[in-house]
Parts: sequence; C-alpha cells; structure tokens
Amino acid sequence: MRRLALACGLILGMAAQAAAAGEDGPVTFCVDPDWPPYEVIDAQGTHQGIAADLLRRVADRAGLRLSLHPTKDWDESIAASQAGLCDVLSFLNQSPKRDQWLVFTDPVFIDRNVIVTREDHSFVDDLAGISGETLVLPKGTSIEERVRRDFPNLKVVTTDSEAEAFAMVAQKKADMTMRSMIVAVYTIKKDGWFNLKISGQVPGYENNLRIGVRKEQIALRDRLNLAVAQITPSERAEIANRHVAITVQTGIDYRLLAQVVAFFSVILLTSLFWVSKLRRVNRQLFMLSRTDTLTRLANRASLNERMEREYDRFIRYRRPFSVILLDIDYFKAVNDQFGHLIGDQVLVKTAELLGHTARAPDVVGRWGGEEFMVLCLESGTDQAQALAERLCAAMRTQPFPTGQTQTISAGVATLADKDSIDDLVNRADKALYQAKSSGRDRVVTL
Ligand code: GH3
Ligand code: MG
Ligand code: MG
Repeated sequence: MRRLALACGLILGMAAQAAAAGEDGPVTFCVDPDWPPYEVIDAQGTHQGIAADLLRRVADRAGLRLSLHPTKDWDESIAASQAGLCDVLSFLNQSPKRDQWLVFTDPVFIDRNVIVTREDHSFVDDLAGISGETLVLPKGTSIEERVRRDFPNLKVVTTDSEAEAFAMVAQKKADMTMRSMIVAVYTIKKDGWFNLKISGQVPGYENNLRIGVRKEQIALRDRLNLAVAQITPSERAEIANRHVAITVQTGIDYRLLAQVVAFFSVILLTSLFWVSKLRRVNRQLFMLSRTDTLTRLANRASLNERMEREYDRFIRYRRPFSVILLDIDYFKAVNDQFGHLIGDQVLVKTAELLGHTARAPDVVGRWGGEEFMVLCLESGTDQAQALAERLCAAMRTQPFPTGQTQTISAGVATLADKDSIDDLVNRADKALYQAKSSGRDRVVTL
C-alpha cells in the first residue's frame, strides 16, 4: 500500500512539473546570427556554436523549451529584445546601457581578452608600457570605451567588423587588436591569418558572457540562473573545445627568450673561449719566462726561484741541498774555429747530455753563456760530487758537431748552516774557478 502511494505521488509530481513547463510555453530567444564560433544561425536556420550548446544545456536543466526568433544581424536582435519579441538574448556582456531593459544571469562563459599582433611582435605583458602603437577595434564594442580610458598611450582606430580588425593587423596597417581569445583563435585559423599570434592577455578585460532576460521576467532569469550554476567548468571547456581547439601563448615569449638565451650563450662561450685562450697564453708566457730559449733548460730566473724553495726546505726541515756549477772548457775556441752556430749546437748537445745524465729530481739549468748549473735536491756533498764526476765523464765521451771532444769543469758546494743562497753560489763559483785553474775537466768541491 505504502509503495503504491509513493508511486502515485511520483507520477503526480512529474505531471505537475510538465504542466508548469507547458504553462510557461516556449521561451523565445534572439542571438547574434554571425558571431562564430560563439553563435551563428546556419543555413538550416538552426542556432549553432558555443553559446547555442550552452543555452540548450541551461534550458534542459531548467526544464524549459526554447524557440528561436531569427534575425538578420545583432542590431536586429537587440531591437527585437527591446520590443519584447524575444524573452532572452542568448549570450552577451552586461553593460549599463543593457541594464536599462535586461536582467542578467551569472556568466555562462568567461572568455579572456587577448592581444593579437603579427608574428614578429614581442610578448605584450603590459599595455600601459607600450607607446605610439596602434590598436584596432571593431566599432561600438564595450572594450573600445574602456581601452580609450585605460590606455591613453595607445592610438585606437576602429573598423566596421571583427574580420577587418584582424586584417588591418595582418596587413601592417595596425600593430595590434584586442579580442576575445575564442574569437581570435577561431578567426586566425579560419581566415588563415598565419602571420598573427596571440601575444598577451589583459588582466581585468574578461568577457563575462551571460544570458540576458527582459526585466519583467525576473522569475525566468532566476530559473535560468539556477541552471547556469549547474554547468561545470569541464562542461564549458568541453563545449568550447568542440568548436575551437586552442593553444595559447602564456606569459613567456619563447621566441624572445630563445633570442636572449642565444645572445648570452654567445657572450658566455666567447668569454670562456677567451679566458681559456688567455690562460693558455699565460701558461706559455710563464714557461717561456722560465726557460732558456736555446737549450730549453731552466733559465737563471727559474734556477734562482728553485734555489730559494730548496733553501727554505733546508731551513725548515734540514733537507740537504747541493749545487754544481759547470763551465765548458775552452768554449771560446769552438766559436772562433767553427762559428757561433756550431757553438750553439755544442751548447744544445751539452744541455741534452746534462739533462740525461742527471737524476730525475735534479734540476738542470743554464746559468748563462756556456755555464750550467745542476741543483741536487736531497743531496749532500758526496752525492753531488759523484754526480758532477759522472757529468764530466759523460762529457768526455760525447760526440759533438765539431767532430771533436769537449770537456767541462765543475764546482760543487753544499748548503751549510748560516749560508745564504749567495754564499752557496759563490762557493760553487770559487770551486769552479779552482777546477779551471787546476787544469780543467775536473770537479772541485768546497
Ligand atoms: P774557459 O775554459 O776558461 O771557460 O774558456 P772559455 O773560452 O770557455 O771561456 P770564455 O769565458 O773566455 O769564453 C766563453 C765564450 O762563450 C765567449 C762567448 O762568446 C761564448 N758564448 C757565450 N754565450 C754563447 C752562446 O749563446 N752561443 C755561442 N755560440 N757562444 C756563446
Ligand atoms: Mg765561462
Ligand atoms: Mg768556458
């Protein structure tokens, strides 16, 4: 019994609802017959587009039937609405002028306004920051009024139609236009304005598109409003995507970014190249400043520097250190007899011989002229003297470009307490002098 009563109640309720819809009769509506992709009246006289889909969905949810009052253009639709020939205007922005005879639902669809420029224009993130550029807008739009007020820095020109505004930008007769994003994307694609792009958004310039209802039908507006609230964001997106596929450039001008990155990369790479080149050149200069150009041995400056280091080690750690000063015997005669070039070759050969014969840690250098020095690291007198003997012996058997043998004399000195570097070198020099004066081709240690 209880179940039967429930079923009866349900049937009665449905009948009542049907009666209410029937009482209302169809809701007549006017549209903009030529505003793709928002809305058009197609060849079959059917309302199509984003607004059409949204309005149909709202009407379904509100349990209302719709009836289109066709017009030839938007102006005629406005006039028909004012004359009470249609209850509803399908899709429009609210404005003070329209408030005079219409009440509005909440926005059915919010579409951002975007800046459209030619491809080569940089991203526009702030219209106020641009000066002297021309912005073209279709005549009589609510945007025109606001732009003139908000951006006196721009030159505003107007056209009769939406399409003309795009054409003027594409043909370089204007720098930019500001249009609804949906319309912009649709028109760029449809009319093939492929030198145009969306290059910025203007905050606060949204199109809040609503359903307009004649003032005396507030109840109808409220009923529609309840249904508008039920439309989900994903439903709106799905409807919009069905009519136009959109990819919008947001915030970053990737072309400009790429150019900036490329510019700084070039600077960075060039700097790195020069820094590394400079380092290489500096290293070469350093090497050159410490190398004897003829023999490629350490030069006198380098020998002095190394002696100082070894002197410090001696003072700190008492590491033994000796030097051998060597001087080619009767070298002047080589020059005199064979000339300077052959003399140079003898010097080079002697340098090679000293380098090969000395031990790995020893430092062999050219002290000046035909004099050489060997720094004997970690070596006391005995080791240094033994090395000097080996060097003299090697010299005796070394063939030279002169075809003759050549001898060398050596003076050995070992660093002692209270010695300065000069003391050490002077003692080696003195020893060498003694080697010379006592017959040459020999080692003297002092
Ligand atoms: P001693 O046995 O006493 O050392 O006799 P020496 O002839 O070797 O000595 P001296 O100091 O009289 O002569 C050294 C010569 O070395 C004089 C100079 O022309 C020559 N000489 C110095 N530097 C170079 C050089 O770079 N190339 C050549 N070819 N000769 C040089
Ligand atoms: Mg000499
Ligand atoms: Mg000499």
